[in-house]
Amino acid sequence: MKIKNIVILFVALLISGLIVIMVKHENAKYNEPIVGYRIYLEGKPIGLIKSRDELNEYINIQQEKIKEKYNVDTVYIPNDINIVKELTYENKIDSVQNIYNMINAISPFTIKGYQVIIDRTNSEEYKNDENENDENRVKVIKVNVLNKEVFTKATENVILSFVTDEQYQAFANGEKLEIKTTGEVIENIYIDDDITIKEANIPVNEKIYMDVDSLSKYLVFGNNSSDKKYIIKNGDDLEKIAEKNSMSINELLIANADLSSETSLIYVGQELSIGTLDPVFTTIVEKHVVEDQTVKYKTNYEYDNKMYQGQQKVKQEGKNGLTRVTQKVKMINGEVSQAYIVSSEELSPVVNRIVVKGGKQVKRGDGEWLWPTNFPYMISSRFGWRWGRMHRGVDICGTGRGSPIYAARAGVVTDIKSDSSSGYYVIIKHDNGYYTRYAHLQNTNGNDRLGLTNSATKYVYVGKRVNAHDVIGEMGSSGGSTGVHLHFEIWDGVPFVAQCFNPLLFY
Ligand SMILES: [Zn+2]
Repeated sequence: MKIKNIVILFVALLISGLIVIMVKHENAKYNEPIVGYRIYLEGKPIGLIKSRDELNEYINIQQEKIKEKYNVDTVYIPNDINIVKELTYENKIDSVQNIYNMINAISPFTIKGYQVIIDRTNSEEYKNDENENDENRVKVIKVNVLNKEVFTKATENVILSFVTDEQYQAFANGEKLEIKTTGEVIENIYIDDDITIKEANIPVNEKIYMDVDSLSKYLVFGNNSSDKKYIIKNGDDLEKIAEKNSMSINELLIANADLSSETSLIYVGQELSIGTLDPVFTTIVEKHVVEDQTVKYKTNYEYDNKMYQGQQKVKQEGKNGLTRVTQKVKMINGEVSQAYIVSSEELSPVVNRIVVKGGKQVKRGDGEWLWPTNFPYMISSRFGWRWGRMHRGVDICGTGRGSPIYAARAGVVTDIKSDSSSGYYVIIKHDNGYYTRYAHLQNTNGNDRLGLTNSATKYVYVGKRVNAHDVIGEMGSSGGSTGVHLHFEIWDGVPFVAQCFNPLLFY
């Protein structure tokens, strides 16, 4: 090594040595102890601050904000905060904001309010709902409210979305309304969940409902609650708006308490609440309903060899009949859950139309849609959207378990099957290309137990030709069904491939 190089190396070492000495000296400065305040929460240290006053002031400001937000006099600070002055070598000082956030995360500031606990474990709707995944379902729901009245009023609003004002008042006052001819009387209104309300210290980092409107909305929409709005456009009507937003008209009316009926006046630019309903509690309404049902006449054909082919004459004009039907109906969250017919009285008989055609009888009962159940009946659920799902058919009940299900028109049976949602079902392909599907039938043993091979019906078999009004099965409650009813669908081609229609449009 050359001398020059040695000198360079020496100088280099000297410089780096100096740097080490300088750094060491700087460090030594920090080694002096400082005065700090250690914050303890629930006995555990959570941080160090420089000034106790700064923390107190920050907490005061936050308290004032909370007081203002909730309009309360007192905000409760967790009582196990301890601030201890200490001399420390630690150089990590926390900001008061950090400390405040940490305290709030572990043991939040609270205000006096009410905690409402809704326990759905024993609710009928909860037990019956087979569509939901069990693990995802909340059994106990906690709702914080600032005062009890907010909850009482919001609950009333939810009930008022299922019954009219007059019905509710009459029920609340214990008045028994008389039905002179037709109409309905509410016999009972109740909430089918256990609800307890208790005064409590409510953590301010939880949702606390302060006004009736926002709580009402939460109670109706549940976790689907959002501030989704629809602004009414030119040419809209409630039916179109509901359809566009995957809701039924009924749901739209429930979501918008200010709309009293399907015919309520709406205007362009008006805002409507939309979304999927998922009520937080179950409202049950029991009604006594008297209504007049029209029995539509059928056309029967007779054939006369003496008349020319293609010639026809009306032998008897048809006349619709009228029957007064008295029903007991149980509604769960605005949907018919159970219904039975107490009595029915024929006000005027139906007279079938008789047409005499020339020539020989070719086909019987074709060319007309006939009702698939006995009469009188009830529609327990209409075609369309409900609870965010499309209901592709119409639910018909009231004629009783085991009552006959008829082919809606002539055709050939293409399917007799079962699955866990439709239960036992029959599909008929009609001569005009339409298909009908009849679901939730009972099996040949007269019960709803699934898994019996090909035993949905003893009346027909796949490939059998049926005439309109031939018996094809019996009403039951098999599959995902909560009560005895027929689920009836009409498709303009192969079911689930073609388009389905509201069956009521065909009658
Ligand atoms: Zn159905």
